[in-house]
Amino acid sequence: MSVTPVVGVLALQGDVAEHLAALEHAGAKARPVRRPGELAEVDGLVLPGGESTTMSRLLDVFELLEPLRERIAGGMPAYGSCAGMILLARQVLDGRPDQRQLDGLDVVVRRNAFGRQVDSFEGVLGFTGVGELPAVFIRAPWVEKAGDGVEILARIPDTPDAGEAADRIVAVRQGPVLATAFHPELTGDERVHRLFVGMVRAAAGT
Ligand code: GLN
Repeated sequence: MSVTPVVGVLALQGDVAEHLAALEHAGAKARPVRRPGELAEVDGLVLPGGESTTMSRLLDVFELLEPLRERIAGGMPAYGSCAGMILLARQVLDGRPDQRQLDGLDVVVRRNAFGRQVDSFEGVLGFTGVGELPAVFIRAPWVEKAGDGVEILARIPDTPDAGEAADRIVAVRQGPVLATAFHPELTGDERVHRLFVGMVRAAAGT
């Protein structure tokens, strides 16, 4: 692999352009991925925010579901934000019965977990290894349950108005797979993308 890692963004639906831009700023060569041949050429993959049920259906239509499962099982670094986190999880609560999972993370996520009243909000989170981070949540999931091998990187702060959301897990890592319930690609703060590009470099041994 060249010194600059090639990182794909799954480009079936969702906020693809924002991730491509953030990855370029973070030092990667960024490419949209729509076909199995394009997936085969990347060193790592971002699964963007959008609508997990739609992306799940399009993964089937574009014949990407099995190739993507295989690459993730084979250790390709992957980063999912919001809908991408849902796709990477082993199980989803409040999903659609026909929604497919990539099984890259040993977590159970709850879709649209923050409810209708507060379905979009911004805040500042402590993110392990990164520091304080602005975070934008849009009809976001949270991690309801995480397996022993999963590192918890961020939680919703336990403030008086956090209610049911207090302390909920919103960023995790398991080996080469990273996921956030929020959207760092929308804030202009590239530290999460830098973390992921570093993971891709490490996996490729450069
Ligand atoms: N609620 C969406 C879903 O279920 C995720 C929202 C997002 O990615 N901003 O996929």
